[in-house]
Amino acid sequence: MKKIPIFKLEFEKNFINNFKKLSTKIFRSKSLSEGDFVNRFENKFSKFVKSKYAVSVSNGTTALELAFKAINIKGKEVIVPTNTFFATVISIINAGGVPVLCDNEKNSTDPDFEEIKKKINKKTKALCVVHVGGIISNNIDKIKKFCKKKKIFLIEDAAHAHGSNLDNNFNAGSIGDLGCFSFFPTKVMTTGEGGMITSNNLKLIKKIKEYKNFGRSKNPLILNSVGSNNKISEFTALMGLLELDRINYRINRRKKIVHRYIKNLRNNKNYSVIIQHKGKCSYYKCIIKTKKNSSMIKRICSKKNIELTGKVWEVPIHKQKVFRKFIKYEKFKNSDHFSKHHICPPNYPELSFKEVDFITSVLNKI
Ligand SMILES: *Cc1c(COP(=O)(O)O)cnc(C)c1O
Repeated sequence: MKKIPIFKLEFEKNFINNFKKLSTKIFRSKSLSEGDFVNRFENKFSKFVKSKYAVSVSNGTTALELAFKAINIKGKEVIVPTNTFFATVISIINAGGVPVLCDNEKNSTDPDFEEIKKKINKKTKALCVVHVGGIISNNIDKIKKFCKKKKIFLIEDAAHAHGSNLDNNFNAGSIGDLGCFSFFPTKVMTTGEGGMITSNNLKLIKKIKEYKNFGRSKNPLILNSVGSNNKISEFTALMGLLELDRINYRINRRKKIVHRYIKNLRNNKNYSVIIQHKGKCSYYKCIIKTKKNSSMIKRICSKKNIELTGKVWEVPIHKQKVFRKFIKYEKFKNSDHFSKHHICPPNYPELSFKEVDFITSVLNKI
């Protein structure tokens, strides 16, 4: 078997031709930043995630930072899972907030609801949930109701969860007050670099639009606030529009691959694939819990020319030294255990079933 890489990304001829054709319109329009294509991309994306509004920004980290700025977390606490990508916590710190870490449930990527309840206090301004690998937590309904009752904001890091939903009422990106997406090349859809904030709350959306455009008021010569420049170009939006044409097909491919992993590993007690039990999942990652040591599995796979993808996550936030001065040091038993006992084998639409079968044949021999 040829080497199975960590990641592949292909664009069909048709995609490239459309991009070329439509980009001539951009060149001729002379409005290379935030014109017609950005408008169309935002509208199409908001329909796709079933939120009222969508605002494009330069990347997923910026999306999170602007979301936290819009709800004003300055000097306030934000509860966030320790099992997340560091960008989630970086954005809380950059928006002037204090990250308060919480553990996940045992052998799960779901946040521990009991711990969330314990960590909330008068200084808590928001709770941030992360739909790890695109999977929306079973607890999300409880979490949403709890945030409402306690009058704190619910922010979704939906960087993995384009198109995920539990049912009609629970679509990733419009469950909480603000949803934050990333369009980095490895994600469910890409614009090279890019991000989007989604919401049903017009007041917050207006603030974000102001902040991403320097803080301008209606009079463009006068500032309302000290914002920044987080706008995207028309070319970025054009790519996003074309990606939205093929996203459902690509999510379906990911789902089929995950089901292939499940089928091929079903008789092996050493592995258990994490699934979202209802609705639709983007399956950005195929997360497989294992009783074996994941570093050992990685070494064996690598010898067989299989490159396992990044885990979710190998180094939880509380293990990052740079965050020590921002967070209270605590033990997170479940997160520590999970980081060592799961693997994320390749799962991208370009992967063939034959390659999945080869990967599982290797896993089954370990
Ligand atoms: C990728 C990612 C981000 C950041 O997105 P960028 O577009 O790379 O800035 C934030 N949170 C999570 C969980 C991610 O995976």
